[in-house]
Amino acid sequence: MLITGLLVWVAPAWADKIVLKNGRKIIAANVTEDASKVYYETSAGQLSIPKSIVDHIEKGLTPAMNSPAAEAANLPITPPPVEATADASAIDSAAVHDGSIDRQYIARVANEAHGGDPGANDKAALAHHAAAQFELAHGDLERALTDERTAITFAPEQPVLLMNLAYLYLKQSEFKQAIDYLERAKRVSANNPDIYKLEGWAYYGMNRPDQAVTEWKKAMTLRPDAETQAALEKAQRDKTEEESYRENESAHFQLKYNGAAAPALAREVLHTLEGHYQRISSELNYSPPEPIGVILYTQQSFADITQAPGWVGALNDGRIRVPVQGLTSMDSELSRVLKHELTHSFIQQKTHGRAPTWIQEGVAQWMEGKRSDENAVVLVQIYDQGQAAALGSLEGSWMGLSGDTARYAYAWALANTEYIVDTDGLGDVERILDRLAAGSSTEQALQEVLHDDYSDLMRSCSEYLKKNYGK
Ligand SMILES: [Zn+2]
Repeated sequence: MLITGLLVWVAPAWADKIVLKNGRKIIAANVTEDASKVYYETSAGQLSIPKSIVDHIEKGLTPAMNSPAAEAANLPITPPPVEATADASAIDSAAVHDGSIDRQYIARVANEAHGGDPGANDKAALAHHAAAQFELAHGDLERALTDERTAITFAPEQPVLLMNLAYLYLKQSEFKQAIDYLERAKRVSANNPDIYKLEGWAYYGMNRPDQAVTEWKKAMTLRPDAETQAALEKAQRDKTEEESYRENESAHFQLKYNGAAAPALAREVLHTLEGHYQRISSELNYSPPEPIGVILYTQQSFADITQAPGWVGALNDGRIRVPVQGLTSMDSELSRVLKHELTHSFIQQKTHGRAPTWIQEGVAQWMEGKRSDENAVVLVQIYDQGQAAALGSLEGSWMGLSGDTARYAYAWALANTEYIVDTDGLGDVERILDRLAAGSSTEQALQEVLHDDYSDLMRSCSEYLKKNYGK
């Protein structure tokens, strides 16, 4: 139980991450470079950017496992394009040309719309939509969202634009937002199969396979297609599997457990989780808007279903999954594991999945009550020998690490988090998470909040360990 797994969040199905010097991140496939440029693949083909604006590249963020949320964020079902009329294509090529967005043109049509020109609203909406498409193709989801949201302000009842905005939220794993816009689209265009296809993905991402099935069945009756059929079959399999589980819920949790776990234990788990929920939300000054799914397993079904390595005690891939074989009532170990995994859910939702693994694991361990203690001396030795793992290298998935390296990564992540909390309190952690949620890179967030870069932080952490745990 020392090592608990955080399997999927930091690793969507895309392979690589390009971190720019301004802190922006581009998630893309097949990143390569030569002397002056960095190349990457997008849905719009191969693109390149000058190497001078790139800070570093993180390769190989391959998921160890697919969670519904990760699958929904990388959905094979895409929204339909705007109808290609002559007007629309003219606006499109005026808004984006020569490999960049023409902001002057977009500002001009937006001004015309604000000036009350009746035809100008649609034009401004399409221009912002064209910019959003360009940004999406370049992997810049945040700017794409800003432009698509602006497009909607000019054409609030345009189903295609509402669907495209919902799609961007799906890619951000912000499922509730996606559903809000899809419901808006349904009110305008109740028999549009594409809306139901996308909404199925939103529910699937929220771990609600039964509602996903309802949406996809409706899509199939409106217009059968192979993509939806495949998605529907998958959701039906999940639904059947879960029907053998019993359910229970509390204010913030939906709990499932199979028959072998005692109902009394299930109630105690919910009670304990609600207590942890109150404490973590006051400590991080945040309450997750989405209900949190929890599944209790007997040991064998945990291994069958999660296919996690043997050393994983419990894990959180969007739902908290906890093996409870042999337990009939709550004990301190289980309570600790629940608090650890619940912290992951808070951080995941608070940062929209943008927290690096070392912060996730550092804060989760701190919250469950772990401190550096007997690890401190070894960590300082490793640091003094110049062998400390760069925190930047611990941002991505840890699933490829060996048992020993993983144990060290957990201890080092905890030590750095502990130093931050002991120095200035949990408020700094909260502020770092807020910066990450807004799209800052981790190091940029540290600089803004702590005025430290990674190497400053590691040095201060090592000094803190010496001072507090030194003989
Ligand atoms: Zn963890």
